[in-house]
Amino acid sequence: MAPRSGNKYGFIDAELSDRRKRHRLRRLRELYPSAGAEVVVDGKRLTNFCSNDYLGLSRHPLVKQRAADYIARYGAGSAASRLISGNIECFTGLEKRLARLKQSPAALLGSTGFQTNVSVLPALADRNTLVCSDQLNHNSLIQGIRLARCRVAVYRHNDMAHLEGLLKSHQGLGFSRILIVTESVFSMDGDRSDLDILEHLAEAYQSILVVDDAHATGIFGENGMGMTCGRDIDVAIGTFGKAAGSFGAYVSGARKVIDFMVNCSPGFIYSTALPPAVLGAIDAALELIPAMDGEREELMEKAEWVRRQLHQAGWETADSSTQIIPVIVGSDENALDLSRFLEANGILATAIRPPTVPEGRARIRLSLTALHTWAHLERLTASLNKWRHSP
Ligand SMILES: *Cc1c(COP(=O)(O)O)cnc(C)c1O
Repeated sequence: MAPRSGNKYGFIDAELSDRRKRHRLRRLRELYPSAGAEVVVDGKRLTNFCSNDYLGLSRHPLVKQRAADYIARYGAGSAASRLISGNIECFTGLEKRLARLKQSPAALLGSTGFQTNVSVLPALADRNTLVCSDQLNHNSLIQGIRLARCRVAVYRHNDMAHLEGLLKSHQGLGFSRILIVTESVFSMDGDRSDLDILEHLAEAYQSILVVDDAHATGIFGENGMGMTCGRDIDVAIGTFGKAAGSFGAYVSGARKVIDFMVNCSPGFIYSTALPPAVLGAIDAALELIPAMDGEREELMEKAEWVRRQLHQAGWETADSSTQIIPVIVGSDENALDLSRFLEANGILATAIRPPTVPEGRARIRLSLTALHTWAHLERLTASLNKWRHSP
């Protein structure tokens, strides 16, 4: 056989150089956590406004201690998938506790939010299923839907009339079932979906409602257990990597839905069980989160204050009503320039550009946490306004 000449990595070179040309090449930066909301990047101390550690639990003494205790008791790894021999005793208690807190009949722990979404959706949807999906859904939900190779109807962001129109127009077309897939708190706009209407539509059109509670778990709902807490949601999904401060994910719902996932969700069946350190951290977080109403109230008060300051100065923050506040600047260049300006002023806030957000909607995405002081917020708003009024 004649050897082929040429560059087998040509497609990679082309992609990377194209991204470089369009100023869309992403790169990893090394970062050291420091005290409170501070981090050190390239030797410079910055206030971190892009962390999902909304309650500061990642470095809470009880969370760290419980993780260490679990390692001492169970080891560093769980050594197998749950159905083989990885189902160490603490899973059962944790899942019971989680179900009770979610006010749901049952719950199941999973590896990550991303992995859970790409496992749960293809389990629920077959090729004859219709999925109605919010236009701003997270990439992991989109990938999960793609893996299911089902029919997809995307509805305009939070547009319940559009969703109902789609549900109506797809009746009687022979779909095996219909899923409605949405987030509760949207990760890029920081706004919320209307779960009352979604529940009603799911009921009226006999559809399965799947809600990703990633950014609401720890922050909204009774005991901070998410917007889906205590509601009639068929499948609620959440992560422990954000407000819970560590790692891992969950699904909650009816007992038979959870039994179905144990049997039919490949990401659950064919992946190593969460390691003991993570289970310890989740255990501690579930103990702490219900008692943090004070922190949650203060976080919302601070977010409201930041939005008010920004609006007064003429900034656009989309429909944010949560701890996530997009500061929309339009062009990629503006977003990058503002991000660099903030960094020069001691603030870490990354630019979010297409394709993560629509063209012309580039932004700085601010995440507020319980670790931010009022002084941090004053410096943030002052710096943003300084950039806006700079020539
Ligand atoms: C972060 C996020 C995920 C992924 O969760 P991980 O545990 O980080 O993998 C899933 N869905 C949404 C909406 C998210 O924001």
